This record gives sequence, C-alpha cells and structure tokens, in this order.
Amino acid sequence: MRVIDSHCHLDDRQFDEDREAAIARARAAGVETMLAIGTGDGPPDLEAAVRLAASHECIYATVGVHPHDAAKATEETFARLDALTNHPKVRAVGEIGLDYHYDFSPRDVQHAIFERQLALATAASLPVVIHTREAWEDTISILRAGWRGGGIMHCFTGDAAQAREALDLGFSLAFGGVITFPKANTVREAARITPAEKLLVETDSPYLAPVPMRGKRNEPAFIIQTVRRLAAVRGCDAEEIAAVTSANFERLCLRPPLPNR
Ligand SMILES: [Zn+2]
Ligand SMILES: [Zn+2]
Repeated sequence: MRVIDSHCHLDDRQFDEDREAAIARARAAGVETMLAIGTGDGPPDLEAAVRLAASHECIYATVGVHPHDAAKATEETFARLDALTNHPKVRAVGEIGLDYHYDFSPRDVQHAIFERQLALATAASLPVVIHTREAWEDTISILRAGWRGGGIMHCFTGDAAQAREALDLGFSLAFGGVITFPKANTVREAARITPAEKLLVETDSPYLAPVPMRGKRNEPAFIIQTVRRLAAVRGCDAEEIAAVTSANFERLCLRPPLPNR
C-alpha cells in the first residue's frame, strides 16, 4: 500500500526525541509522501515545515498562520509568507481558518487574517488547507465570498450536509483518526457520501490518533488504520482508498508549478 498523509505536524515538540525514526516508520508503512503543516508556534517563525521539507525528499510543506496565532501576524508576517509561497516545496497555504473553540485570538482578528491569507493563496495560485472548529457558518461564508481556488477541509468532522457545502465550494475532504472513533457515525456518513475524487486522508499527528492507538501520540505511520476504516465505510479495499487519495493529493498539491510561480 502506498499512502499520502495530507496533514501532519512533524515539527511538533512531541517528535523531538524520535522525529527521524517516526519518518522512517511512516516510509516503512507505505506513507511515501507527507504534507508537513508549517504553522508551528506561529509568527515570527513561519518555516517550521519548510525546514523539514528542505531536508527530506518525501516531505512537502505548507506555510500559514493558524487561527490560534492570528493575533501574532504583522505586515512582516505577510511579506515573509508571500516570499515563502515561491519555495518549490511549499504546496499549500495552511492551516488557516477559524477556531471558536479556544478563541486564542479575537474573532475579528481571526476573520481578517483568514481573509488575507486567502488572498495570498490566490495570488500564489496555491490551494488552501482549512482548519475550522465550532465556526462552520462563518468559515463557509468567508470562503463563499472570497475563495475561488481548490483546497482541503482538514480533519473533516462535519456531517453529510456540511460535507456537501464544502464539496459545492470545490473542496476536498480529508478524513483522519476521528472516523475510527466509536461515536463518529455522522462523520462516517460524510465520508461515505464524498465522491472518490474529493477524498483525502490525514493523521494531524501528533494529535487524534486512530483506534486502536487512540489517546497515544499519533504519527504518520498510523494513517493505515484510518485508510482501513475508510475502506470499510465505503465498502472497498484499503488499497483502493490508498491509491485514490494519493492520486487526489498529487493532483491538488503536487502538480508541476504553475507558470506564474
Ligand atoms: Zn487543524
Ligand atoms: Zn493540523
């Protein structure tokens, strides 16, 4: 099986002791490509994932300001983000969006920073990776108003109706460990109705480890459990899920750079 982990935080401190070993375990499990999310601890450091991508052929990077860190963004942040979108291994702007669960940054600031990063992604012709938590309506209305590109709804945990809203906006839906959780029936229903060409898988490691590793530190190698469960939900082989989600990711994020980049 050959799988792509479309969302992992390999820069996280939880990997400080065994980062290279975790990457090696991922490769051994068939995870041949990983998209490292570059939000890190927030501005001023915007290169958490770029550093990893520069030193590992199998790792690509995103750049962006997480909604938690929106209040830390400055003009300098945007100038630097703009420059980083030209890095050959930067393949998306993310994770960006809104998080009303923690409200670590004021909501009006979250909105402004989200909108500005959508504009930045448009200018760079890059897809976006969206984080939305307890903020679905506002996220969708901002996307409807200001986004015409493709992208990924990361760690999709909505229901079938929300899945359709995101799909109508052209988004792909990335399913993670949550679909293996016993109570996640509505998420499994969303995964069942998502067209194959819009399906992605992710770990969001070190968070949200799938059953039976739930509660432990997650790592990219564990994505196999999510692939298997997704296959069961959709009534197909795990190999088919792995192949289709890899092809989808490649089409979305690994296509050759556009002429204006
Ligand atoms: Zn997230
Ligand atoms: Zn994440």
